[in-house]
Amino acid sequence: MTKRMSTSPQPVRIKHVPQRTCVACRRVVDKRELIRLVRVSGGGVEVDTSGKKAGRGAYLCRVQECWQTGLKGGRLEHVLRTSLTRDNLEQLNAYGKDLFEGVN
Ligand SMILES: [Zn+2]
Repeated sequence: MTKRMSTSPQPVRIKHVPQRTCVACRRVVDKRELIRLVRVSGGGVEVDTSGKKAGRGAYLCRVQECWQTGLKGGRLEHVLRTSLTRDNLEQLNAYGKDLFEGVN
């Protein structure tokens, strides 16, 4: 009867989770926790739900406060080096509303 003595250490798998900074609160969090906004050709900003759109991107927490801060303070525009039109801003605000309404 042989008892297998496995003493070899388990390989430690370090999962590399990409991290990004929220432009509103400056916290560094897992990319998955954030919402990506991307500057599209033509100057507007879109919510990148897939996280894979090409273009200059910025990230916001899934927190209403960050969303508002990011949109209101012109931080998003600064980070993305673009300016948001009123329509564009409204669009993003609407997205934020949908996102956070009904939570709680
Ligand atoms: Zn944040």
